[in-house]
Amino acid sequence: MLPRFDLYMPTDLNEACRLKAEGAKPVAGGTDVFVDLYGGKKAPGALVDIKRLPELQGIRFTEKDGLDLGALTSHRSIEEWDLIKERYFALFKGCSQVGSVQIRYRGTLGGNIMNGAPSADSVGPMLAFGAECVVAGPEGRRRIPLESFYTGFKAFDCRPDELLCRILLPPVPENAGSAYFKYGRRNAMDLALMGVSAYMELDGGVIRNPRIALTTAAPVPVRSHMAEKVLEGKKISDALILEAAEAVEAEGKPRSSWRSSAEFRKRLLHDVSVMVLHEAAERAGRPFDRKAEEIPARQYAGMQGLEPRPVIRL
Ligand SMILES: Cc1cc2nc3c(=O)[nH]c(=O)nc-3n(C[C@H](O)[C@H](O)[C@H](O)COP(=O)(O)OP(=O)(O)OC[C@H]3O[C@@H](n4cnc5c(N)ncnc54)[C@H](O)[C@@H]3O)c2cc1C
Repeated sequence: MLPRFDLYMPTDLNEACRLKAEGAKPVAGGTDVFVDLYGGKKAPGALVDIKRLPELQGIRFTEKDGLDLGALTSHRSIEEWDLIKERYFALFKGCSQVGSVQIRYRGTLGGNIMNGAPSADSVGPMLAFGAECVVAGPEGRRRIPLESFYTGFKAFDCRPDELLCRILLPPVPENAGSAYFKYGRRNAMDLALMGVSAYMELDGGVIRNPRIALTTAAPVPVRSHMAEKVLEGKKISDALILEAAEAVEAEGKPRSSWRSSAEFRKRLLHDVSVMVLHEAAERAGRPFDRKAEEIPARQYAGMQGLEPRPVIRL
């Protein structure tokens, strides 16, 4: 049984922010909020439904500025947008692996961030694309890099009277490639045991602006800056990818849970990083007009002169 609560459905942002500051819990798709309420977690007493707030709606893309996504953007709308598949492949991949189709229709990007789960499937890819959050409240709007938006486990640089309004992803050049791999115990309706996202640009085989993001490797989704340093400005090669994967493994701090031991997750960090870096490199060498699906492993040897990705050694 759901506990009793008051429900507010404001259409004005300031009103919603005031209700939140007074203790009402925001609800977007409700796929986390209502599970918690049914599960008997402490009832907030009041919910503020934020779906009618125009500031949180809409998706836009321009070549100059990239993506401007309302916090209410559903995983499904990302999954179904060809442009995302072509240019922001890792984000397509992450969103398409959230729960089930029904969950993806309701669940939002903003909710995925603000729920604060270290396994959030859309968050690693957004970190890898260098996303920024826009929060708004009575004092105005603030723009914060997604990486620093997380201040601790389920803690954010978001004041009680602020809401997450938009998520901005910079444009990606033609020579960019990205990939995301979610390692789970089964293919659907399961949280990630480990998730690795990678982004890079290839300039005549030289890696520029590499970004690697890890989910379930720390209390919050994180970047692997050590591995990024290994890759930056170097010629892509299998040896370099292995070196970067070792840096990811060294930097990641996964913990043991009932889902998996920390030791197993450490090994995953290495092996999944090898796969994902190969795939991102391969995609960086392919033009935008692809309707990208999975690239078979054997094709990874393609344009960049890399060996086929190693078989996972687990
Ligand atoms: C069966 C099932 C399977 C799932 N599988 C996955 C999975 O595979 N991968 C995965 O990553 N997640 C999964 N989830 C979790 C969930 O679907 C996602 O986290 C989803 O993105 C949450 O979005 P929502 O809009 O439903 O959030 P809500 O439940 O509405 O809100 C989640 C949290 O964010 C806060 N919030 C929401 N929007 C805002 C905002 N704009 N500003 C401030 N605070 C806000 C809420 O107060 C709440 O604390 C699953 C959930 C279920 C029930």
